[in-house]
Amino acid sequence: MPPRVDPPPDPPLALLAELTHRCPLACPYCSNPVNLERASAELSEEDWRRVLTEAAALGVLQVHFSGGEPMVRRELVALVGAASGLGLYSNLITSGTLGGAREIAALADAGLKHVQLSFQDVVADNADRIAGLAGAYERKTRFADAVRATGLPLTLNMVVHRQNLERVPDMIEMAHTLGARRVEIAHVQYYAWAFTNRAALLPTRQQLDDATRAVEAARQRLKGVLTIDYVVPDYHGRRPKSCMSGWGRQFLNVTPAGTAVPCHAAETLPGLAFPSVRTSSLSDIWYRSEAFNRFRGTDWMAEPCRSCERREIDWGGCRCQALLLAGDAGRTDPVCALSPDHGLVEAALQEAEQAPPAFVYRRFS
Ligand code: SF4
Ligand code: SF4
Repeated sequence: MPPRVDPPPDPPLALLAELTHRCPLACPYCSNPVNLERASAELSEEDWRRVLTEAAALGVLQVHFSGGEPMVRRELVALVGAASGLGLYSNLITSGTLGGAREIAALADAGLKHVQLSFQDVVADNADRIAGLAGAYERKTRFADAVRATGLPLTLNMVVHRQNLERVPDMIEMAHTLGARRVEIAHVQYYAWAFTNRAALLPTRQQLDDATRAVEAARQRLKGVLTIDYVVPDYHGRRPKSCMSGWGRQFLNVTPAGTAVPCHAAETLPGLAFPSVRTSSLSDIWYRSEAFNRFRGTDWMAEPCRSCERREIDWGGCRCQALLLAGDAGRTDPVCALSPDHGLVEAALQEAEQAPPAFVYRRFS
């Protein structure tokens, strides 16, 4: 008998369709799991078409085609077309290292509405070093030009950490020059490969404060011209982020092999059997699966979250971070200063004052 949910949650707002874990790059902060799925395990085009149809019926409004590098999948244009035909707003999250003007034009013709392109740095040598691929930066700038030529709205994702953070002002300038309407200056979040590389990526307080001042100044200067989103590393905060806007509240991810999860890192949580879209409908997964109901709402919370006035603001923070740091997904996120495990975060910040170790690059085992 499936668990009963009372009252039932709202339908998901967005589907993250992780088409593949394959990618030409090897970023040491990649949010893909450390155990990457191989091509032989990937869902077929037919499977994805069914997932998109079920998502639209469920009430999903947006689909984010992601990976890995989604342009590895030759079915991408057909899937964008299918999403468009179902009335879904489709966004491409890409490294911009595969394909060019012809491929982007085909995606635009199929109904793609937006492109989100990631950069590793504004200094080509360092960008290529972080990406683990020579020439990646050059390919990305050409890709940005090609997107701009189609007229598709472009957001640049600048992934920042201690090895590029001082160049935030140049990153904003570059986004402006490349014709982006929005730039997201997003600090690495410490899961998966980024957790493996935490000591090499975690910025110092001074670096963070300098970057925050640079963002505030640029927001004033470029008001009405460029929107600047800024995501800070929660290790330096006093309260956690509202991870995925709460477990199973707005987002549904489907991995390349078809596992449905409420966030990128959730597959690592022990004791939860995440359902597969190969054997369950998205509706059953969203409303009735044990895994999606496990940390929904506030009933699962222990103290200090249970009686905290922020419990329906940050939902107790991130379950995966609680597991990674404190060894128990049911505990308060240790980045919260009220958590009894907060000392683990302070120890990690102290470690970041040392010289950073070399990167462990993302790779298939
Ligand atoms: S973070 Fe880097 S390695 Fe991971 S999917 Fe994106 S571009 Fe590829
Ligand atoms: S105690 Fe829990 S609900 Fe309160 S701020 Fe910390 S993580 Fe959020």
